[in-house]
Amino acid sequence: MNPFYVIILGNGSAVPTSFQNPTSQLVAYGKKRFLIDCGEGTQIQMIKYKTGHSNINNIFISHLHGDHFFGLIGLLNTFHLYGRKTALNIYAPRELKKVIEIQLEASKSNLNYTLFFHFLEEIKNRPLYEDNHISIEHFSLKHRIPTYGFVFREKIGQRKLMKSFVEEYNPSVEKMYAVKEGLDYELEDGRIIPNAEITLDPPPPRSYAFCSDTAYTEEILPFIKNVDLLYHESTFDNSQENMAADKFHSTAAQAATIAQKATVKKLLLGHFSARFKEKNHLLQEAKAVFSNTELSVEGRSYDI
Ligand SMILES: [Zn+2]
Repeated sequence: MNPFYVIILGNGSAVPTSFQNPTSQLVAYGKKRFLIDCGEGTQIQMIKYKTGHSNINNIFISHLHGDHFFGLIGLLNTFHLYGRKTALNIYAPRELKKVIEIQLEASKSNLNYTLFFHFLEEIKNRPLYEDNHISIEHFSLKHRIPTYGFVFREKIGQRKLMKSFVEEYNPSVEKMYAVKEGLDYELEDGRIIPNAEITLDPPPPRSYAFCSDTAYTEEILPFIKNVDLLYHESTFDNSQENMAADKFHSTAAQAATIAQKATVKKLLLGHFSARFKEKNHLLQEAKAVFSNTELSVEGRSYDI
């Protein structure tokens, strides 16, 4: 099974503190790395937690509040200084292209690699990214400006060959591949061995969803239904429910309600307010609704 996990680089909200960084996280699948959001200081966090950078070819920016992308120009410039040649894909609201271009222009910087922008508002009814193993889709969140969540879905893997089948029939590599794909096995005398008798089901595909920033909205439920791990913002606590609604953010309990209604396996809370150095009450309020909840911790990786 390919490794599939997320490393939290920043789980704070807009106001900086000495104990948490603005939003950023790195999703790893196999050797590939996907960066979600790039708040100020993201590249320092990457160095601190030794994430590497060379396998990042795709960056997803949820929205254009500064705490979700102010670190991007720095990271792009550092990639240039590292001598990067590989093109980089950025999936973001349209205006980000202008912001980045004017920053590069003003400093007379010519990156020695190509940037491809993909505008989130223009991509509909298809994944943002797809390879043989995973697909990445986006969906609208409910925030003060256009904001998107992302869901990473592993594709169903090949069927597993039973050891007894390989030992008994010693099939060619070509035939093994066909059986893994689900075809029956044909013997030289013409007899057919049904696929179900010689293979096992592949492991269930895994999935991960990122939802930040957003007010409570059940419109996201179809997109995140049954994911293995949900990262959801929890900027406020129960006493601040009105403020959460005013500012288009969520309370920890609202994040938990979403987790429970979407029947996800596990909830990871983040986008913590600078007000809360101690966050245990957020955890308790969420757990009262959805027990399999954790507070995200910067630098920690979470298996999906
Ligand atoms: Zn925001």
